[in-house]
Amino acid sequence: MGRKIDNIVDILNFYKNLGFKDLPGQFVQSLLEQFSEEAFPANYDESSEHGQLAIEKLNDEIRQCKKCPLSNSRKNPVCGEGSINAKLMFVGEAPGVDEDLQGRPFVGEAGKLLTSLIEKMGFNRKDVYITNTVKCHPPMNRDPLESEILACFDYLKREIEIVSPQVIMCLGRVATYTLMGMDGKLKDLHISRIRGKVFFYNQIPVIPTFHPAYLLRNRKDKWLTWQDAQEALRRIK
Ligand code: URA
Ligand code: SF4
Repeated sequence: MGRKIDNIVDILNFYKNLGFKDLPGQFVQSLLEQFSEEAFPANYDESSEHGQLAIEKLNDEIRQCKKCPLSNSRKNPVCGEGSINAKLMFVGEAPGVDEDLQGRPFVGEAGKLLTSLIEKMGFNRKDVYITNTVKCHPPMNRDPLESEILACFDYLKREIEIVSPQVIMCLGRVATYTLMGMDGKLKDLHISRIRGKVFFYNQIPVIPTFHPAYLLRNRKDKWLTWQDAQEALRRIK
C-alpha cells in the first residue's frame, strides 16, 4: 500500500512540475484504475505478505476450532510453524503431550529427532515448515480417528496451498494416509510397505517416511529415513 501511495505522489508531482494546477475528474479516475489491485501483479514480497496474512487467518481459525471432539480434551491447538516460503514441508500425525502443553509442533523427544534430521539435511527448523495432520492432541496419544482427520484436513490443505513447498515429507502413516486420499482404512496402511515410493499431492512430490517416534523405538531403521530425506533433497531446486 505504502508503495502505491508513493507512486501516486510521484505522478502528481510530475504533473505539478509540468505546470498543471487542476486535475480533470477523468484523470483522477484513470489514476484510481491504474493503481487498483489488478495493476499490481503480485511480486515476491507482496505474495509473501499475502501468504503471511493467509497463514495468520488460518491459525486464528485453528485456535478457535471446535469442529471435532478433540477440541474438548486438548490444552492447546498446535498450529504449523516455520517459513511460509519453505521448499520443504514436514507433516506429522498429531500433537503429543509436550506439544499439547506448549502449543508448538514437534517439541518433545520425537521433535528433537526431527530437528536433528532437518539439520542433517542442511536446514534450520525456521527454514522449513512443520505441521501436523490433526492440530489437537488425541487423548492417551491414540491415533486420530478418520472422522477427526477429515474434520481437520481443510487446515492442512490450506497450509500446503499457502506454503506451496517443492517437497512434502510425511512422517508416519497418518499423514501418508491423509495425503494419499484416505483410501481404505488407516489401520491397513503400513508405512514400511509404502516408504521408498514417491506419490503426488496436487502435483507436489510427497515422500512417506517413518515417524520419528517410531525411530526412537527402532533406531536401526534410521538409515531408511535418511535415504528418504536424500530423495527429498534431490527434488529441491
Ligand atoms: N508427533 C507428531 O506427530 N507431531 C508432533 O507434533 C509431535 C509428535
Ligand atoms: Fe479443529 Fe482439527 Fe482441533 Fe478437531 S483437531 S478441533 S478439527 S483443529
